[in-house]
Amino acid sequence: MTGRDQIIAALSGVVTPGCILTDSGDMQRYLTDWRRQFHGKAACVVRPSSTGEVADILRCCAEMNVAVVPHGGNTGLAGGAIPDDSAGQVVISLERMNRIRALDATALLIEAEAGVILQTAQEAARAAGRKLPVSIASEGSATIGGIVATNAGGLNVLRYGMTRDLVLGLEVVLADGTIVNGMRKLRKNNAGQDWKQLFIGTEGSLGLVTAAVLRLVPKPRHRAVAMVSVESVDQAVSLLDMALTSVGETLTAFELLSASALAHVKRHFGKEAPIRQGNWFLLIEAASSLSGLDRAFEDLMTTAFEQALATDGVVAASEAQANALWALREHITEAESRAGYSMKHDVSLPLRSIASFIEEFGMALDAIDPHAAPNVFGHLGDGNLHVNVILSDTAKAQVIMQTVHDLVATRGGSISAEHGLGQYRLDEWMRLTPRAERELVGLLKRTLDPRAILNPGKAVPGNE
Ligand SMILES: Cc1cc2nc3c(=O)[nH]c(=O)nc-3n(C[C@H](O)[C@H](O)[C@H](O)COP(=O)(O)OP(=O)(O)OC[C@H]3O[C@@H](n4cnc5c(N)ncnc54)[C@H](O)[C@@H]3O)c2cc1C
Repeated sequence: MTGRDQIIAALSGVVTPGCILTDSGDMQRYLTDWRRQFHGKAACVVRPSSTGEVADILRCCAEMNVAVVPHGGNTGLAGGAIPDDSAGQVVISLERMNRIRALDATALLIEAEAGVILQTAQEAARAAGRKLPVSIASEGSATIGGIVATNAGGLNVLRYGMTRDLVLGLEVVLADGTIVNGMRKLRKNNAGQDWKQLFIGTEGSLGLVTAAVLRLVPKPRHRAVAMVSVESVDQAVSLLDMALTSVGETLTAFELLSASALAHVKRHFGKEAPIRQGNWFLLIEAASSLSGLDRAFEDLMTTAFEQALATDGVVAASEAQANALWALREHITEAESRAGYSMKHDVSLPLRSIASFIEEFGMALDAIDPHAAPNVFGHLGDGNLHVNVILSDTAKAQVIMQTVHDLVATRGGSISAEHGLGQYRLDEWMRLTPRAERELVGLLKRTLDPRAILNPGKAVPGNE
């Protein structure tokens, strides 16, 4: 194994001074994740400011057989951006590559470097009368490179798709330092393989993303936001069907929130839902550039009450009220982290099996650990639930995770809807994924990263 001093000396020869952090205090924020559940050590942290510099770093690390860990905004929830504890890996932070290279409002696209904060890119799009439709509660810190590498989902997937659906072009650096410039600005391109898909959602295990061209959409001029309470998940699914029929393609978000998730928000942030308590709450948003949306939305609410699908509800009368309703949703993750140690399960399921899954999960959790507190919420419109569990004692954590994932697998679901595998779910992916699929993934990994230096132990198993 190459020693730390040797690694630092070699890298110092290829990057600009000030680009390398070696002091343990300076490195600390790159070595622990946002929730403080994953901790690592690194030989050093490098912060390149150009694609050429990233290529030089990778070439140098490849020659020494030293592993690298790409690091964006550090908001990932699967420990993917944190090195192992050998102190022999190099963290590559893309934070200094933070230029928006171009924005074309008519062609509906933005070209941004990997370290651009998602919110900065959203604001640039908004200023041009357009919208970058990836919306996640961590957007103030998450980066363009991070959302591409994790194929981030979020609140608007129902209408606009995942990050993958928005990537038109990509610039990547391969394990040996080769720069591949695919920054095309084309909506249509069937000229051979769409290789950029290999780097989207693979968490830096096949290459480093240094820049991306992302699709924008026209910014809707009107939006309508409502919160309703329902008694059951089946009723929530019926209401989704009704909304898809009545407000159609303007439906942008359809979020499910359990009463307990909102109770955590009230306890830790003092924010309270403005409607009567139900078992479940829905946060629904529709948006359009044409007028008449409010009327269509009111009609939806009236029909929901007439058909006894909703027990209480409120339509936001102002932008401030709409934001206050969304703030309840956006504080759930932080409220949960303040409530204690929580296990995250980020699953997706066929829509019709969500109600039975939640029921069986509740019974199974009770049998395993009656003191464990479920915290369930998610993007119901996408079939994506965050089935989190707050534990006072972690002894049963493993059995709870396996039980949740088994219930998902038997229904044909996925154990990672949007957060990725990282280091957190890799063993579970190995346990539940058929051999032929694992071998195909291993073949791609060996082909693109023969020395296994790209983010080892994350997203892709090393021993396939
Ligand atoms: C409060 C909160 C709410 C969230 N809500 C959502 C949500 O609704 N939907 C959702 O999908 N996620 C959500 N997340 C998770 C997280 O914000 C996303 O996964 C985000 O895309 C991570 O971006 P990042 O820049 O912070 O990446 P990091 O956390 O730094 O890295 C994530 C992974 O990508 C790799 N990576 C980072 N940059 C690059 C690069 N340039 N090239 C190659 N690999 C790279 C890292 O090695 C790591 O494996 C949430 C997180 C928080 C804290």
